[in-house]
Amino acid sequence: MWIDTHAHLDAAEFEPDRAAVHLRARAAGVGICVIPAVEAGNFDTVRLLAHAQQDAYALGIHPLYTPQANEADLAKLDAALHTHHDDPRLVAVGEIGLDGFVPELNNSEALAKQQLFYKAQLKLAQQHQLPVILHVRRSADLLLKGLRDTPVVGGIAHAFNGSMQQAQAFIALGFKLGFGGALTYDRALQLRSLATELPLSAIVLETDAPDIPPHWLYTTAEQRAAGQPQGRNEPAELPRIAQVLADLRDISLDALATATSANAREALPRLQ
Ligand code: ZN
Repeated sequence: MWIDTHAHLDAAEFEPDRAAVHLRARAAGVGICVIPAVEAGNFDTVRLLAHAQQDAYALGIHPLYTPQANEADLAKLDAALHTHHDDPRLVAVGEIGLDGFVPELNNSEALAKQQLFYKAQLKLAQQHQLPVILHVRRSADLLLKGLRDTPVVGGIAHAFNGSMQQAQAFIALGFKLGFGGALTYDRALQLRSLATELPLSAIVLETDAPDIPPHWLYTTAEQRAAGQPQGRNEPAELPRIAQVLADLRDISLDALATATSANAREALPRLQ
């Protein structure tokens, strides 16, 4: 069985055929998906969807949603974590983190607001004894500093694309590293060598659906200009993405499924 540790199944892209996406995931052997929230406005949506589909969910405010977020949203998060504390499908605080890539969020004011939300949510994860699902984009060192200041029980650094040294620092803090569609590109040399050299015990798999399409779903800017839509990623793609990693590591697909699912349960113990 596979576990997709990061799938935004509540996204508008899935509105037309969400039930079919779910059925395709199960038919492909993806037994459970983790659906992370991105803002207070979708806390109920991800929770209800996770229950309806027998998936899991996380509650948090995504760094790209911090410009429109406010202190009341942190209070909502705290309240929701209290209310649903005993919900076995609530597996983490997430998606939280820092984004150093998006230009609009890269000025000092926006970065300070990202940091404020990141730190406050780490504190909530600590208080509620939950792991965190981290958005890491050109922000690994700052995220690591936050974790050293406010230790949490661990979690997942999702769509990881940092250095081996940064990866090892996350692992030392009890984290697993999430890999997905980006691995399928031949040109992703650094990412591929990282995913090949890391201990297998450090790796979890994810699609980040509907984003990060594997190369077989990717459409170029030219194709899009000609009217072809960008390929939509979905959890059913996970085994094919995993095959790329199994080939890189020269292990069987079965061995990779067993190991990465165990790793996901270790990072997010409520997936048990
Ligand atoms: Zn995400």
